[in-house]
Amino acid sequence: LFDRTPDAWDLDAAQVQLVAEVVFRDPPFGPFDYLIPEPLAPRLKPGARVQVPLGASREVVGYCTSVTSKPASGRPLKAIAAVIDDVPLVERKMLELTRWMSDYYLCPWGQVLHGVVPAGVRGNAGTRETTFLSLSAEGRQILASGVDRSGEKPKKVLPAHLEILRILGTSPRELTPVELGEFASCSIAQITGLRKKKWIASDVRRVRSSSHEELPLARTEPLALHPAQSHALAAINRAIDRRTSATILLHGVTGSGKTEVYIQAIERVISFGQQAIVLVPEISLTPQTRQRFRSRFDRVAVLHSHLSDAERHYHWEQIARGEVQVIVGARSAVFAPAPHLGLIVIDEEHDGSFKQSEAPRYHARDVAEHRALQLGIPLVLGTATPSLESYYRARSGKYELVPMPDRVEGRELPHVGTIDLRVEFQSRSSRGSIGRQLHTAIAQAIAEKGQVILLLNRRGYSTHVQCPACGFVAKCEHCDLALTHHREEQLLVCHHCDFTTKPPERCPDCTFDGIRYSGLGTEKLEAEIKARFPAAKVLRMDSDTMQKPGSHEAALAKFRSGEVQILLGTQMIAKGLDFPNVTLVGVINADTALHLPDFRAAERTFQLVTQVAGRTGRGELGGRVLVQTFSPDHPAIEAAVDHDYAKFVGRELPDRVAHGFPPFTTLLRLIVRGDSESKTREFATMAAESWKKLLEAKQCEHRILGPAPCAVARLRGKFRFHALATSVDSDTLRATFREASSTWKTPDDVQWVIDVDAIDL
Ligand code: ADP
Ligand code: ZN
Repeated sequence: LFDRTPDAWDLDAAQVQLVAEVVFRDPPFGPFDYLIPEPLAPRLKPGARVQVPLGASREVVGYCTSVTSKPASGRPLKAIAAVIDDVPLVERKMLELTRWMSDYYLCPWGQVLHGVVPAGVRGNAGTRETTFLSLSAEGRQILASGVDRSGEKPKKVLPAHLEILRILGTSPRELTPVELGEFASCSIAQITGLRKKKWIASDVRRVRSSSHEELPLARTEPLALHPAQSHALAAINRAIDRRTSATILLHGVTGSGKTEVYIQAIERVISFGQQAIVLVPEISLTPQTRQRFRSRFDRVAVLHSHLSDAERHYHWEQIARGEVQVIVGARSAVFAPAPHLGLIVIDEEHDGSFKQSEAPRYHARDVAEHRALQLGIPLVLGTATPSLESYYRARSGKYELVPMPDRVEGRELPHVGTIDLRVEFQSRSSRGSIGRQLHTAIAQAIAEKGQVILLLNRRGYSTHVQCPACGFVAKCEHCDLALTHHREEQLLVCHHCDFTTKPPERCPDCTFDGIRYSGLGTEKLEAEIKARFPAAKVLRMDSDTMQKPGSHEAALAKFRSGEVQILLGTQMIAKGLDFPNVTLVGVINADTALHLPDFRAAERTFQLVTQVAGRTGRGELGGRVLVQTFSPDHPAIEAAVDHDYAKFVGRELPDRVAHGFPPFTTLLRLIVRGDSESKTREFATMAAESWKKLLEAKQCEHRILGPAPCAVARLRGKFRFHALATSVDSDTLRATFREASSTWKTPDDVQWVIDVDAIDL
């Protein structure tokens, strides 16, 4: 890849040319070879951007991925027009990592590179070009002699000019033209005149227009670890000391003190002069998390999504210079250019936000694993509810599993009770979405000066059909997944296999005639709570109310201060929050996630209930959890109630095997969208068939589900279809897709994307 000199060929220097391989973000993606003109050769390194001619009349920006000497072949190459970055945007190891991503995620290399380097870094945000002046050798002579000998006859130099040279020559630092003009009380034109005579030399450099240093925090001391924490730390330290890559899955219940373990492991790598990256879900980048790290380390960079381009650029450069010890950030911080990375930590590794939903559609956990492997350093994955992918890898010996089964300080996990909504509805006394039992519990918690968190996990489109009397949910005959109600067509549709059926008028199980078609949103819930508890202060947190930068922090600060008694929201309130005063957590309807048309629905439900339950019982007051559900005996809910992860996987894994879903297979999701429903469906069908043919030709065991309409069947006016392909043979599955898709002729108004290891179905 780098500086390969062709040793097999014995060539005259004249026949060899220096060639750069260049890739592009947009089609045609490349790679293409370009000639490196002599003067540019010393400046161009792999990982830098270049300006190159493309086609007949265009010049475009591309990424140079390699520089090699090649024998001149028949066809002359076009030449690079300009080198944009004197310092490559990505260094060699990162270039290799992005190439792996390109191959694994079936995403053009140029698109990966574009996605990995922040816009602020590409655009040099927050810096400007500045001219710095200094005395040239000639200028110094003139200043010493006062005589100009450049002409035919020596001439005395004007005193005003000598004064300018003197001020510049005695300045302790380089001056800009404006500064010199001010200090020497002269015009810029006079300075320009002296620069033309070459008495004053100039240099143009980029400088920062502002500083983004955060104020230092008071330092706090390491905590004395509990035995399970010490045991976990020892396992991580062993991996650090072995100086080989290893992945440790830290399976610690909520409140088991995982963060303290990460921090003490990071202290160790810092003592070796190395750096650490800590990835957390975006939503957890609260001031609380920032402070936890900033109060323990001197130089922490926190990369969250509300940074300006200039701030991001500033942090990136500081990290690249090795001036940052710990990088705490969301998904994309996995690419932080730390020069001596010693450890990567991913907290809440099960969280869906680690998968990027646009190109490159990478999963930060898998990229981190690859980066750790490449550098020979450990990766620590921490969670109370491991993703089945990680759990399965641990069980098959790929990861080391380290359990932390108890909360710190001998605190108990909260008691979780279920409320059977079928019973609540039979009594007919309950109206709205909060049953009698939950109402009483909320009233009691507030009366006792505790705080309440209410979770309503409703995604906009989860319009499954449910009987309120018996909990029956309409399911696909083939996939055992909830059918989605299409209001306009009055049909129930399976979003995996396209099975359709008419919605039942009466419940097929209990003949109740009040089947429900639509759920409830956070807004409606807020109104209901305010009506039920007029004296309490209520705060709603969901993606609608938390749009503005800082709104999340502000809301949490209000809750922390005790000003607000009831916090209600979507899954964004389930994660990582540590409020000792929360004595009640209520789940309004645990089934909303359960009946999403997604094979991970049970896993999501288990994770969500377990995580939100973990928000209580964190202080002296203790706490309890009430889960409203139509299916209290669903395995995922039963296991969450018992805080029993083993029970959950014991039920879930065999199901995944039976249906050939991950973690036992690799899953690729092809999404096709277009203006016309029939054309889009037609293309998706053709695409799936051509892929299937290749898979069969390679005798690769596989399954292709669909094409069927996506769960969001129409988005921004476009019809959407998807097909899911699974196989244990990941390489062949991806290779056949690459081959098949290269033959597709995509109509103008149809687009497709491929999502490797898709998690959103
Ligand atoms: P987790 O991330 O596993 O849910 P946290 O790291 O948030 O747990 O820890 C829960 C609480 O316990 C925090 O308030 C933390 O400060 C405290 N804690 C952690 N370790 C210790 C310890 N060894 N001694 C005392 N308190 C601890
Ligand atoms: Zn189906």
